[in-house]
Amino acid sequence: MKISDLEVITFEWTGRPATNFMNQRQPAGHPHQNALLTIRTDNGIEGHCLLGRPSGSVAHEAANIIERIKPQLLGKEALKRESLHALLTKLAAVTSVRAIGSVDIALWDIAGKAANQPIHTLLGTYRDKIPVYASSAKMDRVEQYVEEALRYKAMNWKAYKIHPPAPWQRDIEVVTAVRKAVGDDFILMLDSSRAYEYEEALKVGRAIDELDYHWFEEPLGEYDVYNYVKLKQKLKTPIMATERPVAGLDSYAPWIMAQATDFLRGDPAMKGGITPVVKAAHLAEAFRMKFEVHAGLNSLVNLANLHIEMAIRNTTFHEILLPVEAINHALVNEPRVDADGFIQPPEGPGLGALIDFDLIKHHQIQVLR
Ligand SMILES: [Mg+2]
Repeated sequence: MKISDLEVITFEWTGRPATNFMNQRQPAGHPHQNALLTIRTDNGIEGHCLLGRPSGSVAHEAANIIERIKPQLLGKEALKRESLHALLTKLAAVTSVRAIGSVDIALWDIAGKAANQPIHTLLGTYRDKIPVYASSAKMDRVEQYVEEALRYKAMNWKAYKIHPPAPWQRDIEVVTAVRKAVGDDFILMLDSSRAYEYEEALKVGRAIDELDYHWFEEPLGEYDVYNYVKLKQKLKTPIMATERPVAGLDSYAPWIMAQATDFLRGDPAMKGGITPVVKAAHLAEAFRMKFEVHAGLNSLVNLANLHIEMAIRNTTFHEILLPVEAINHALVNEPRVDADGFIQPPEGPGLGALIDFDLIKHHQIQVLR
């Protein structure tokens, strides 16, 4: 089964709510694009991935996939994912991790459809469903975090993660108010998204030590292994680094060597695909570390996340980034959180995605081939 064609359709993403991700505020209805990658095989199977994300353009990955990756893939065996991933990794200087990740997800979609099995079955299923946590946007007022945490607790979601507003003094106000509101029996996490200097991280970390937070995510810069080591030795709360950098499997090595993090983390768009993320999760398992999967930032990467989470032992939660209307798009069968706060992937083969091709055609901008 050979790869016979590859195309990317870019399309307008209308009606998105106001967002504040990565310190980029966008008003409601801000012009935005999404893009559908399709890889076809000579026996008529199609694999897909979406390239869209809340902040950042799809243009770079779309062009890169067509110009740099497509010529390398045409005519190759579609099921030789390990070989294809090795080929793409060798081209890293002229492509991007996100482009490689999208192609790898589409190749897993093809493999599942060829076997008529969901991707998690190919990987070896460990569980059938997973608890979710609500992951806040950055908000302006302390009361907004309190209200949101209480709302998701009442819906039986299993935990709430705060992306705090900064500066660090305000962040301590937020983590304190939310803990007081939800009580001691609800799981809370803090994700400061690389906002602090070491001294600030220590102050915030000591505050959440007293408030029994489940993890302290990315307090420091994405390459600051030296200060992570010091911070981890001083705090009680487990430290979670490695969501960034956007990089491949070998980017995890220095963090384990230096004992600079209590968890590994990543998602298949930002780490180069399902192939390296599953390897990283298995690497973590050898050290009895958890691998917590980062929110997928679009509907198809989120399905890839669910398949990974079904297939690895050492993970706890599925992250749902709020507002979901800024993430979920172009999928007819978007998975729903059940009344007990669990979620599972669709039952169909591959990713199990029922893509809204009518919506994509209606809002189509360009077909890149
Ligand atoms: Mg994070």
